[in-house]
Order: sequence, then C-alpha cells, then structure tokens
Amino acid sequence: MKETTPERSSSGLEGPALPAALQALVWEVQGDALDLRAAQAPAAELFGHPAERWAADDGLFLRQQHPEDRPRLLALLRRVLAEGSTEHIEHRLLAADGRAVWLHSEIARQQGRGGPPVVRGVSTDVTRARRAEDALREAEARAQALLESTEQGIYGIDRAGRCTFANRACARLLGYGSATELVGRNMHQLIHHTRADGTALPESSCPIHRALREGEEVAHIDSDLLWRADGTSLPVEYWSRPIREGGGLAGAIVTFVDITERRRSEQLLAMQALTGALRAEVAAALSRPGTMREIAQRCAEAIQGNLDAAFTRIWLLDEREQVLELGASAGMYTHLHGRHSRVPVGHYKIGRIAQELRPHLTNDVLSDPQVSDKEWARREGMVAFAGYPLLIEDRLVGVMAMFARRPLREEVLEVLAAIADTIAQGIERKRAEDALQRSEAKRAAKHAVLRRLVGQCGDGIVMVDEHGVVHLMNPEAEQQLGSATGLTVDAWTRTTAFLAPDGAPVPAEQTPLHRALRGEKVENARWRVRRPDGSIRVLSANASPLRHADGLPAGVVMNTRDETEQLRLEQERERLLRSLKEAVQVRDEFLSLASHELRTPLTPLLLQVESLRRMFQPGHEAPSKARLDAKLSTIHRSVLRLRDLIDELLDVSRISARGLPLHVEDFDLVALLREDIERFEESHPGTPVRLLGCPEVRVRADRSRVEQIITNLLSNAVKYGAGAPVDVRVEADAERVRFAVEDRGIGIAPSDQARIFERFQRAASVMHYGGFGLGLWIVRRIVDQHGGSITVQSAPGRGSTFTVDLPRTAASTRAAPDPGPLGSPRARGDGGAGGPSCPP
Ligand code: ADP
Repeated sequence: MKETTPERSSSGLEGPALPAALQALVWEVQGDALDLRAAQAPAAELFGHPAERWAADDGLFLRQQHPEDRPRLLALLRRVLAEGSTEHIEHRLLAADGRAVWLHSEIARQQGRGGPPVVRGVSTDVTRARRAEDALREAEARAQALLESTEQGIYGIDRAGRCTFANRACARLLGYGSATELVGRNMHQLIHHTRADGTALPESSCPIHRALREGEEVAHIDSDLLWRADGTSLPVEYWSRPIREGGGLAGAIVTFVDITERRRSEQLLAMQALTGALRAEVAAALSRPGTMREIAQRCAEAIQGNLDAAFTRIWLLDEREQVLELGASAGMYTHLHGRHSRVPVGHYKIGRIAQELRPHLTNDVLSDPQVSDKEWARREGMVAFAGYPLLIEDRLVGVMAMFARRPLREEVLEVLAAIADTIAQGIERKRAEDALQRSEAKRAAKHAVLRRLVGQCGDGIVMVDEHGVVHLMNPEAEQQLGSATGLTVDAWTRTTAFLAPDGAPVPAEQTPLHRALRGEKVENARWRVRRPDGSIRVLSANASPLRHADGLPAGVVMNTRDETEQLRLEQERERLLRSLKEAVQVRDEFLSLASHELRTPLTPLLLQVESLRRMFQPGHEAPSKARLDAKLSTIHRSVLRLRDLIDELLDVSRISARGLPLHVEDFDLVALLREDIERFEESHPGTPVRLLGCPEVRVRADRSRVEQIITNLLSNAVKYGAGAPVDVRVEADAERVRFAVEDRGIGIAPSDQARIFERFQRAASVMHYGGFGLGLWIVRRIVDQHGGSITVQSAPGRGSTFTVDLPRTAASTRAAPDPGPLGSPRARGDGGAGGPSCPP
C-alpha cells in the first residue's frame, strides 16, 4: 500500500478541500486506466481502509467497487472523461470487512493543470437511505406479490367509487384482460348493479358503499352477485373496508371470493338431502299397504311436499283400453275428475308423453307448444312443467307430471327422473301383487269348490305333487288309508303295508301311486292295506299321472274305494250259497233217507195187515190166537217205530221253529236212568246195560227231555254197540252232574266225531243202520238248553262213550229257535276230562 503523500494529496485535488464533516469521499481518476490520482477521505479510515492505503494504492477505489456495479461505474467514468458531462450514479463500494456501502457519486471532468483531464467524483455514503428505500421497495413488492398471489379478488375504490387499483385475480374473476381495464371505472355501476333476483341494486343500498358512506367495515356478504364483463354473474362473498387518510375517509378496499363451488356444493348437499328425503318418502309411500290409487296419491303428496311444485299428478295406464287414468293429484288440485281424468294415449301432452315414452320438460310454459291452455298458465303464473313416462324397461305403466311457478332446476329434474323410475317399479310391483292376489283368490275359490267336491266324494281321493309328497287327502281317503298328508309316498309306504289281494306284500315301487308317479295310468288295482292301526282294508284304486299345461309332470291323483265290506258280503254270500247247496243236498239226501226209513216199518205193517185181511176172508180158516198175536205184535212194533220216527221229525221241526221250552222239576236223575235202562233191557233183551256210579243225584231239569237224552244215547249204544254190554256211569258234585254211556261197538272215525251232532249227519253205513241222523242233534239242543255240554270219545271198532255234563239246577227257559243247519255245535268230539264224581 502506498502512503498518501501531502504533495500528491495537495496537488491531486484542485480547489478548496472538502470539509471532513461532509462525510464525503472525494476522488480523482485519470488516464485510460482510470488510475486513482487522489482521494480525500473525511476520516483517517474510510470504509475500513486506512487513509494511507487510499494514498498508496491507485487501483483500490476501482477494485473495491461491487462487481455488479463496477462495469457501470467504469463506463460512466469513461463517458464523463470523453464528453465532459456531469453524471450521478449510485454504486456500491466494498468496505474492508466485505460489507457493501452504497455511495452516491457526482462525477464531473476537471481540466488537469497542464495535464490531461481528470474525472473527479464526490461520493457520499447513502447506505442508510438506500436501505430504507430498498425496504420500502421490498415491502411494496411483497405487498404486490401478495396481492397478485391471492385468489381473492381485491380492488380499491376512492370516495367516488372509482377503481384505484385491482389485482389480477379481480380482473380474472370479473372477466377483464388486466387490472388496468378497471382502474378509474365506477365499480358499482360496472359489476354490482343488479341483485340475484334480477332487480336493480342502487348505489345508495350497496353494502360495499356502506364502507364509503359510513366508514364501517362490511364483512362476509354472500347474498349478492357480481356481474362479469361478458354479462354473466358470479356468486361471491365480499368484504369492504374503509381507508382512512388524515382523519377522513379516502376510499375502501373490497375483497371478494368466488363462491360458485361453495354454492354448487351447497346446492349439491341440498339436492342430496332433497333426493334422500324424497326417495325415502316415496319408498315409504310405496311400501305401505293400500289400493293402487292410495299408493299413487301418497307418492304424489311426497313429491309435492318436497318440491316447490304447484301441483303433481300421476296417471295409471289402463293397458287394455290404452287410456291413462288420473290416479293421484296433490297440491293446488286434488280432484281426480274433469278433463284430465281419462287421457287416451296420444292425446294432450300427458298422452303424448305416454306415446313417445319420453319426458317433456320446460321452464317456459307460456311459449311451449305442448301446453295448450296458455290462458290458464298465465293466470296461474305457471312457469315450468315436467312430465315423465313411468316405464318398466320400455313398457309404460303411467305418467307422472307437475306444474311449478318457478323454474325447475336441472338437479330437481334429475331427481324427478329417478323418482319416476322408482314409482314405476312400485306401481308395477303393486299391479303384480294385485294380480297375484286376484289369481290367488280365484284359485282359493276354485280350490274351495274342489275341496268341497273332493271332501263330499264317496271315494277316497289322494293328490301327490311332482316331488312325490302327498298334499291332499279327502276324509274318505284318510278313513281308508290313514292320514298321510305331508308325507312322501316312500315314507308312506314304509308305515302302511300294501298287500296283494292274497295278502302277499307288494313292493313299494309297485303300489299304484309309485306306478302313476312313473307316468303309468293304473286302473282298478285291488290291493289290501294294513294301516298303522293294524286294521286291514281292501281297496280298489285308479291312479293317473297329472301334467302341467307345458306337459311337465305335476304329480298324481288317485281315487280309492274301500271294498272291504263289499268283499266281506261277497264272501258271506258265497259261503251262504255253499251252505245252501249243502243244505239242499242234505235235504235231498234226507228225503230219500226219510222215505226209506218210513217205508222200513211200513212194509212189515202192510204185509201183516194184508195177511190178516186174507185170514178173515170168507172161506178162510180162522187164525189161531198165537198166530194172530204174533202178527199184531209185528204191527205194533212197526207202528211204534213209525211213531218214533215221526216224533223225531216233529221234534226237529218244533225245535227249528219255536225253540225248546224247558219245564224244570226236581227229580232223581239216577232213578230216571235206572227206569229207562230197565225198560230198554226189556225191549232189547240181547244187550246188557249196567248202571254205575252215584246211587242218587237230585237235579232240577226238564225230566221228559232228560229222558229223551237217555233214550237216544241208549238206543244208539244198542244200535251201534254190536250187542256188547253197555255201561252207564253217573258222577256228580254240588254243582254239576255227569253221566256217560259207553258201548263197545263199531266206534266213530275222528273226522266224523264233530259232524254227527249236526242235523241229518250220519257216520254209519245206511245199508246196515237206519235212522235220520237227527237223534244226536236233538240231544245236543236239549243239553245246550240246560246249560250243559255233550262230548264223544271214540275209536273205530273200539266203541264210543258219549258223556253229558249238566248243571244240577237248570233255569226254566224257552230256547231260542234253531240257528239253522250251520249253527255251531257246542258238543265237541274230544270227550270230557275231570269234573264231578259223586256229591257228598
Ligand atoms: P241215527 O242214529 O238216527 O243215524 P243219530 O243222530 O242218533 O242218528 O246218530 C248220528 C250218527 O252217529 C249215526 O248215524 C251213527 O253213524 C253215529 N253214532 C251215533 N251213536 C253211535 C254209537 N254209539 N256208536 C257208533 N256210531 C254212533
């Protein structure tokens, strides 16, 4: 660093030295290199560089210039040097500590003494002023940036309402190319002249101007519109703040934001709320019970209640007649009669909507060609009309329409279109339900008739569906088969045995129902059913497969007839027929037998009578007494035999016709037996008869009938006893008496032993033994009548023992008539065992 010499210093600067207090740096440069010739600093140290340094270093001044400012300064110095002008420049000098010091330099050419001209500069430190200016500029720039960066529109107005400034957002929002187009214009008249409803907004009522008029801050006004350059409007929220200057009002700053989106979302929300409410109410209207008209009316009222309509109507299509019938009317008109109560498809605007299947919408009713009664529309102030066909796919079910005194917004129309769909579906559903109900009612009525018929039918009727489930049985079928409703045919055949007529089980798949389920028509199948209660019924059945209209299987119907009783009667008839035949045969046999039997004693009788007649003929020798006696004896025997036979026959017919009256009396049975045996031995001297057992048994019985029993058994024992001795054995106890007649004759085969107690039944050879086969039958009837029994024990060739068991006291009764040839015998051929011996 060069020392600043006094010479240099004194010779360097012409004229009076600048006072140090001036705080200015005075400097001179010269030559092409602009070398520093002299510098005079107000202080020893200027900008951190000591004074000596300024003196010693020619290049210091220019070197220490701020690189950004140096070229400018050099150019200016050269110009001043060349042209001799005086210039001013602000430039930065770098202090020793590196900070930039703003200098304001006044530069002028000075004629050097005898030498080349120099450029002298006087630089004062303007750093502070410069900083304040920079700060202001920066603040301004920031404010401007802020103004420009915001999306809010901001403009200022003066007291007269003229625009003083506007930011870019303001110009953009209002549709102007730049803010300058606004500056100077009356903003109220330009952008705020008309209200949302179309009425004029005078400046005197303008809220923005309140800030001007009353100095009041106006905030958050969002009920107004601003009007754009192109005439459209902009919904905004705005604030207006007064600007005060010197205690007075200088103007106002207006800030506004575009609330189109907010409005839109508010509208959207409102729309959603409206849609939700309307849908919910319509859904409720559709779901509540009622007639079609009631439902339609509820829907119309729901629409009317939620939308700002004058009236809402719904027509329902009569498909057959192609006429729309007014079904619902809500709002200013609620009547359903009148010109629009029945609208043929294609007539009026409603009928045309129905014909074209397209909605008709207008917000300008008065100029709409479809609206015929313009006078009415004008009178009533109608503005909008919306009519929708109610469609299911492409099929019309009705028309919904409304008139409104205000325009219907797009969103409302969208909601209405959606609601029209919902209502159409509701109407369709209701129609389907009504139709179903009608057809179900019809079906139920038919079913009731069918059920009555089926119920009253004498046959059993069983209906099985296509799945094999029994779904109907009339009472008769339940009676015959047991209830099976709800069971599958398989399950039913498991609980109810189906048997063939001969009793063999029928496999399940062969039962009539199974066969018919397989498509077979079963006719007159007879089978036996063992029902769950164990009873067996004989049924005949017809079973037919049923088919739906489309030919698919619909199940089976089976009718059954209980033939159990009929079969029993048939069997009974057959049995009777058989026994009748047998009886006729027996009768025929009997008649030949009877004639033979009656003839047997008649023949000797006739012979003897003839012989006697001849004996007493004139000329005939008188018969001896012995011969006469023999002949009369024969005649007597024959007559007795005839009498016995006839008595037997009469007994049979009496018993058969009137039964057997008993005349009971008290007597000794053993005494009676003894008498009879004695008489027998007299008449049949060849056969000895022994009486064994109790010596006396008192009984109460019909004595003559008991005697008839004894006579019959004894005569059989003698007749079939082959002359061998006969034993009669008597036993008794307090209650009963038993006597047995035992012979040792031809005996009876076991197969005949039961039969011989029946009428006309004989087991012995007709050739060798006479008789009607009635004796034992009469005996059995008498024994029965006394409350006793008769049994036989016998073996062919070994003899027979007939045992009679009687109560010792028989009731005095009248017997029932004979039950006939088939009456069941109480006598058995098994003989008696045990029982009484002798009473004490
Ligand atoms: P009848 O003796 O008149 O034929 P009964 O009714 O008295 O009629 O007897 C029926 C049949 O029973 C006889 O025909 C005979 O075949 C058989 N019978 C009855 N008693 C005896 C007997 N004691 N021994 C063998 N057979 C007898």
